[in-house]
Amino acid sequence: MPVSPPYRPEPRFFDLGSEFGDAVRPADFPRTILRFRNDRAAASVGLDSLTDAEWLDHFGRFAPLPGQPGPVAMRYHGHQFRTYNPDLGDGRGFLAAQMRDDADRLLDLGTKGSGTTPWSRAGDGRLTLKGGMREVLAAALLESQGVPTSRALSLIETGEALERGDEPSPTRSAVLVRLQHSHVRFGTFQRAAYFERADQIETLVEHVRSLYHPTVAPGDAPGLLAAIVAASARLTARWIAAGFVHGVLNTDNLNVTGESFDYGPWRFLPSYEPGFTAAYFDSSGLYAFARQPEAVFWNLTQLAGCLKLVADAAPLTEALNGFGPAYIRELRAAFLERLGVRSLGEAADQRLLDTTLALLREQGEAIRWEPLFHDWFAGFASSARALSGPRARAWQGETFDAFRFALFEHEPDRPERLEHPAFAVPEPEELLIDEVEAIWAAIDHADDWSPLTQKLDRLEASRQSRA
Ligand code: AMP
Ligand code: MG
Ligand code: MG
Repeated sequence: MPVSPPYRPEPRFFDLGSEFGDAVRPADFPRTILRFRNDRAAASVGLDSLTDAEWLDHFGRFAPLPGQPGPVAMRYHGHQFRTYNPDLGDGRGFLAAQMRDDADRLLDLGTKGSGTTPWSRAGDGRLTLKGGMREVLAAALLESQGVPTSRALSLIETGEALERGDEPSPTRSAVLVRLQHSHVRFGTFQRAAYFERADQIETLVEHVRSLYHPTVAPGDAPGLLAAIVAASARLTARWIAAGFVHGVLNTDNLNVTGESFDYGPWRFLPSYEPGFTAAYFDSSGLYAFARQPEAVFWNLTQLAGCLKLVADAAPLTEALNGFGPAYIRELRAAFLERLGVRSLGEAADQRLLDTTLALLREQGEAIRWEPLFHDWFAGFASSARALSGPRARAWQGETFDAFRFALFEHEPDRPERLEHPAFAVPEPEELLIDEVEAIWAAIDHADDWSPLTQKLDRLEASRQSRA
């Protein structure tokens, strides 16, 4: 078994036993065609030395990796659009392996589209190739933007024809493998609370605390909640600064390490539009762009409710109350990064955030700019800096002046220095819905994977330039 030395298996969730997951068998796919292998991610866990044939064997056929007990479908419940659903759980995926990464953190290898499980209900346990491609793209883009995210490790086409109502039917099938530090969801706690299993909550608290939040003292459930609140606030702020809409912020799609995952109907804002909604089935706009902080906070209150089985309400409430201040703090940091300026301390940073948001609110939809939020974001910073040009003239006004003043406060040695091309705000690689569709069309009609590969290469270059 030729894995390189850093491969360190450590199947800790599996140790929790059959009350938390069910041993399952992967589907027997008619074909396995390698479409994407993420060797950079694989290298972080010592799996980059696998040959393509071995890769297909482990990530298409799910032959267990050394030291791993075999696939387990995780049990969880969750609120879907605020309605409690006890009929959830890994219905088309499983936890395939756990190992230490090169930063010594535990990392899960989870699947999507690997076959039916006891939790599939009416579902077929399958993933469309298009859905897999969209998850690969979302994870790469968010990673390049510095958003805490799962990463796609592998995408393998599986040779089945899937019937799906919402796209041309039949459509091609695939199996995805993703890496993220934990697949323990808020909904994992909800299931234990639903059955009034304080003992299971205690087990989960200790599991999550010791593996993912070790600075929290043993038994300190409110302390653990505070750590999850902080990680979730950071994640949410980073989505907002990236112009990202996850689309389905149900409690089974938020995890204990504050990494986003399960990218279905995600979108990036086509323009600054607070009410922009990604999922066509989100008819009330519950998970609209600017409602994401509210959605995450609501989900955290559900997690806190579960922890009431093992802790007092008052310290849990206090931990929840940390969300607002943490979110604002993280939002300041994330927007400063987007604008390419340094911190000047809380008051000045807050002025810049406030004026930026005011400008976005006032003019974000009215101004014609390059179609994407990202471009516009970089564009308005540089136009403000240049104090001239058609854009800056179009933005004259009190709000714009206040923004420009706050920006200059962060750049005292302006304007000459920053007009030099070397100081231009780097334009992040963006991803428009049209581009996603074009990438998919090339794959589906011509089996041309080069637009996807080229996009991923550009995202990687963008990530490296940020790092
Ligand atoms: P999601 O909205 O992707 O987070 O999924 C919600 C629930 O539906 C989870 O329990 C999934 O495992 C399950 N699910 C989604 N798609 C399928 C499918 N094609 N087959 C079986 N279960 C599925
Ligand atoms: Mg999900
Ligand atoms: Mg999904």
